[in-house]
Amino acid sequence: MAQGAWLQAIALPVMAASAHSSKPSYALSSASDAAQPLLDPFGRRHDYLRISLTERCNLRCRYCMPLDGVPLLPSDHYMRAEEILALAEVFVGLGVRKIRLTGGEPLVRKDFDQILNLLSGLEVDLGLTTNGVLLPRHLDALKASGLRSINVSLDSLQRERFLALTHRDDYVAVRAAIEQAVDAGFRVKVNAVLLRGRNEDEILDFVQWSADQPVHVRFIEFMPFDGNRWRWDEIVPFAEVMQRVEKAFAVEKVQDGPNDTARAFCVAGGAGSFGVIASMTQPFCATCNRLRLTADGKIRNCLFSDAEMDLLGALRAGEPIEPLIRASLAEKHAKHGGIDGLDHLSADAIPHRSMIRIGG
Ligand code: SAM
Ligand code: SF4
Repeated sequence: MAQGAWLQAIALPVMAASAHSSKPSYALSSASDAAQPLLDPFGRRHDYLRISLTERCNLRCRYCMPLDGVPLLPSDHYMRAEEILALAEVFVGLGVRKIRLTGGEPLVRKDFDQILNLLSGLEVDLGLTTNGVLLPRHLDALKASGLRSINVSLDSLQRERFLALTHRDDYVAVRAAIEQAVDAGFRVKVNAVLLRGRNEDEILDFVQWSADQPVHVRFIEFMPFDGNRWRWDEIVPFAEVMQRVEKAFAVEKVQDGPNDTARAFCVAGGAGSFGVIASMTQPFCATCNRLRLTADGKIRNCLFSDAEMDLLGALRAGEPIEPLIRASLAEKHAKHGGIDGLDHLSADAIPHRSMIRIGG
């Protein structure tokens, strides 16, 4: 495709409502509306739930996790396996058809296989996002659960650099895990956060890998979170990624799904694909279908919002969950959790939200 033409080809419809327009009124449903779809005030249907299983992690990616990790919290802070199932069942009853397990690092939960086994009985498309370090020991359980899609985060194809970016020497283990997952028949996406001056010189290596192997690389624009030293000039924007790639490869567009966050492409004749999740420079809020459940059982309607409602507390108190879910949806903003001017945001204006707390 001619350089620049893809930009037009993937342009998303811009929502008429801005983050600060007055929102339509939204009445909470009664129990009789239980089968009503999960629509937000902008008519977006929500059928995808991302469940964080823990705030803890065995890596220390510099853009995500403080070097000292997160405080050890009492075990009743986190949803127990059966509570995750109970809350997931409510969402599925309201039309959720896709659930992705994430974190923190979901595989550090000792009861991960049990959680997987419980959720595998639901009528949903299950997925997992992991750093891959502990993945091989769970592949059999993942296969048995019917889960087919695994996203593995990997920001460098160089061992020394991986160590510098994550503060752990696990590059060899993660590469082996990806290979095993591909060989076992999983659809494997590789998430790489691009950071100016740290790994953008590896863009072509990642794309070459996606041409040689059936891996689906997703470059992610660096996003601002509490304390992650985010700066605009460290973002490697979508447009720049494509310019670099198109100079080196014959690139073809891959059909995106209606709610996909990545704009996907492939090298002509390649085994896999690559794409960009352009959260900062080409946001995909207009087609958002995602809700999030934090590891301590709070619903968040957007990664960029700091409002949450306590579903776990309600579950433990025997109170209804659905009104809280609908109330959360009613508060959803059109764009970026209502943050004004993301395009001129500075690090000290970043609201109190961390990826670890919310779940990536
Ligand atoms: N530990 C798992 C992993 O790394 O895949 C799951 C959780 S992690 C928070 C989910 C995804 O969020 C990862 O692909 C990670 O690279 C991405 N992520 C974390 N912080 C980010 C940031 N500041 N900007 C962009 N992506 C980020
Ligand atoms: Fe851990 Fe994933 Fe955050 Fe890296 S991105 S520190 S692997 S939770």
